[in-house]
Amino acid sequence: MSEEQTVSLVDVLEEDEELEEEASAVLAGSDSDHCSYPQGYVKRQALYACSSCTPKGGEPAGVCLACSYKCHEGHDLFELYTKRNFRCDCGNRKFMELHCKLHSEKDEVNSLNKYSHNFFGVYCTCSRPYPDPDDQVEDEMIQCVVCEDWLHGRHLGCVVPDCVELQEMICESCMNKNHFLWTYAAHLSVQVKEEREADQSNTTLPNKEEQGDEVIEPSCKRSREEAEPSCRLKQLQAIGQKRVQSGAVFWPSGWRSKLCSCITCKECLSESGLCFLLDESDTVLAYENKGKTNEQGRQGHDPLMSALDHLNHVQQLEIIHGYNDMKTELKDFLQRFAEDGKVVTPDDIRRFFEQQSRKRRRDDAGRFYPT
Ligand SMILES: [Zn+2]
Ligand SMILES: [Zn+2]
Ligand SMILES: [Zn+2]
Ligand SMILES: [Zn+2]
Ligand SMILES: [Zn+2]
Ligand SMILES: [Zn+2]
Repeated sequence: MSEEQTVSLVDVLEEDEELEEEASAVLAGSDSDHCSYPQGYVKRQALYACSSCTPKGGEPAGVCLACSYKCHEGHDLFELYTKRNFRCDCGNRKFMELHCKLHSEKDEVNSLNKYSHNFFGVYCTCSRPYPDPDDQVEDEMIQCVVCEDWLHGRHLGCVVPDCVELQEMICESCMNKNHFLWTYAAHLSVQVKEEREADQSNTTLPNKEEQGDEVIEPSCKRSREEAEPSCRLKQLQAIGQKRVQSGAVFWPSGWRSKLCSCITCKECLSESGLCFLLDESDTVLAYENKGKTNEQGRQGHDPLMSALDHLNHVQQLEIIHGYNDMKTELKDFLQRFAEDGKVVTPDDIRRFFEQQSRKRRRDDAGRFYPT
């Protein structure tokens, strides 16, 4: 959207209700009023962990967006952004005292939920909180699409490419657990030039690197022999392009559609719990677009929606979390434009959100570092 495109502020103020709907589109289907439990394991949803109810040392638990508002108001919550295939734990056996106000009849536990150290408020291979009060280095956190942990850009073991929002990342640990991904990486991934030199000196897997594409998941070995000749993975293995097999891998948009989905590969992915990689609608981008589509494609014409599109995931997360507090301030902000008879541009809105995010960090200096 070009900066010349503006909208009359009067329009924006008059459409307050629509404004609200559009901001909630960022939540893309995460319902802020109803507990998501009855939907079962939700394909992807915004999740929170409550350290007041389920502190470190106990069992990890995650709650849905609505429960974070209605059942854990005033509690110490960790924002987990979105995770896949999760069922809301609010008020189940893991919660000693608390009963869910929205959906009280829950199974004792949700045995298919996957948990990580994120549920205790720490992230990355360095297991630090975010934001980290002891860390003054501004560093973007990037989510691995496989384990869904968030990693510091500087702890990925590779050069972080530009336009990181548009690319999916798989961390080094997940790459090594699913070794066939290195074959795809050699042919599909985004590799920044300096990476080779930087990594060659301190690569931790020199032997595997030599063997290259011959190494594959042990569980896949048997079925691989029977693979149809049309298997794309097999073809790529035959080409055998070399790539440094260390560090995280960034994948260009649309990369999932290039993965082989022959029967053998599907079986292999399913055994590794990676079926979601064949599903384009599993991506965070698809999740975000879902909410916007519900808004009937108006986003291209609306400065607020357009500005939201340009925020990174952490900023979007902050908006989701602070949406209710923010709404009043946004109105005040817009009101000032009305008084001056000015129009609002996408840049104005973006500046507003940036100020909001800085302000919140100052307000809560105990948890957030000053910026
Ligand atoms: Zn819930
Ligand atoms: Zn709580
Ligand atoms: Zn609840
Ligand atoms: Zn880290
Ligand atoms: Zn990972
Ligand atoms: Zn295949």
